[in-house]
Amino acid sequence: MPDVTESDLIVLGAGPGGYAAAFLAADKGMKVTLIDAAEKPGGTCLHVGCIPSKALLHAAKLITDARDGEQWGIHFTKPKVDLAALRAQGNKIVDTLAKNLLELCKRRKVELVKARAVFADSQTLELDSGSRRRFKHCIIAIGSSPTIPAALKLDSLRAMDSTGALRLEEIPATLLVVGGGYIGLELGYVYAALGSKVTVVEMTDGLLPGVDRDLVRPLQNRLEPLFQKIHLSTKVAKLAEAGKGIRVNLEGAEVTEKEATFDRVLIAVGRRPNSGGLGLEKTKVQLDEKGFIKVNEQRRTADERIFAIGDIAGEPMLAHKATHEGKVAVEAIAGEPAAFDARAIPAVVFTDPEIAWCGLTETEARRDKHEVKVARFPWLASGRAATLARTEGLTKLVLDAESDRVLGVGIVGAGAGELIGEAVLAVEMSASARDLSLIIHPHPTLTETLGEAAEAIYGTATHLLRVRK
Ligand code: FAD
Repeated sequence: MPDVTESDLIVLGAGPGGYAAAFLAADKGMKVTLIDAAEKPGGTCLHVGCIPSKALLHAAKLITDARDGEQWGIHFTKPKVDLAALRAQGNKIVDTLAKNLLELCKRRKVELVKARAVFADSQTLELDSGSRRRFKHCIIAIGSSPTIPAALKLDSLRAMDSTGALRLEEIPATLLVVGGGYIGLELGYVYAALGSKVTVVEMTDGLLPGVDRDLVRPLQNRLEPLFQKIHLSTKVAKLAEAGKGIRVNLEGAEVTEKEATFDRVLIAVGRRPNSGGLGLEKTKVQLDEKGFIKVNEQRRTADERIFAIGDIAGEPMLAHKATHEGKVAVEAIAGEPAAFDARAIPAVVFTDPEIAWCGLTETEARRDKHEVKVARFPWLASGRAATLARTEGLTKLVLDAESDRVLGVGIVGAGAGELIGEAVLAVEMSASARDLSLIIHPHPTLTETLGEAAEAIYGTATHLLRVRK
């Protein structure tokens, strides 16, 4: 018989959902074991997602900001990129954060186990080390992985998913990005800034499917000169190794060249939950048709001792949603009143400009025939945007038509990801446009665009002309 160790709580997966859950549970006095197959805690987000991509995006922005210096009469010479040093800087950031997590595990007396685990039954996990772990409760937080459709599977070092692209092995002369979602655009922006000729292919008729079109437009306008080409309503039909490149067949009404060769291809067409091969059939846990684990508002599965959080438990697959769910699950296990009832889960596309939104989008409001008013403040009228020479932005509020309650906010522009924080608070606290208009925002800052967007509803926005009735 293999060894069996008991824990109050086993958290499976040490990403932003899992480690946040483990830490809160330990703070509440539970005996916690955190199991992850990876060498270090942090999950996708820390090792091959949010953090390394944002570090590279920062480096890319240094390059494009330096280029923008020309309009201020400041001329830099062409940047020389030392790839090894750039990689080392990114790795240093990730390693420091991973070390901090290890220290936090130690100080909180969370037992960290490096192992791949599968369920043996509703109360037991089997580790690849041969041992067994029993639990009173388990939180599954094992995340998601990149999806590669069968037609795009190619056994070649030149065909990369996001993890491969983040390795930054070289700066290819030409790069094809398959998928115009946030991961494709963020990484495409990085490679374009570093010097690759980047082509993006998106199957639907617009970049960032699902995001309001007026928020996407300013980004697309800025990406068009940076990228070699953006093909919309276009499908990649076939990939094949061709000498020192990859030959790509494109299908789309507006594609003139149906065949092209690229040095590297990045496939960023989506992610799928890691629910396969976990032995869930030995428990009562149920999956939906996409492979996400079905959970209730406490993040409890159909098996009452087992909870699921983060990417494995459904969209949106974002780190902050995983963390919040982890805390809700632990509170529920501790017997506290808890529910995942967020009105506004913010989302940020970290390109330049950034796009950020939370709550109800205008697209959703129109689709669901929700009675809304939309207030817009174009950054052309913002003093702060003028000082940054970044007037392409837009701040808009989606308001309940009757009460003026803020149901959603969308922002495109420099630093939109930081600005969305105030908007999340407004949606969660049921603030009205009147409330936002009565807040004194510091001048000159881009936060004023939230106040002036609200004032636009009442015809009191200082920098917008009132429409005479
Ligand atoms: P994960 O972070 O995926 O962690 C799961 C862990 O489970 C992993 O460490 C894995 O090793 C472990 N595991 C899996 N199976 C087993 C098993 N059987 N046994 C033991 N361990 C196992 N989100 C944002 O919010 N902001 C961003 O800017 C952002 N940028 C991103 C950029 C990229 C390129 C990518 C790929 C993702 C990005 N994301 C971003 C998404 C974010 O990374 C995920 O939403 C987040 O990591 C999900 O957290 P999680 O805790 O659910 O799982």
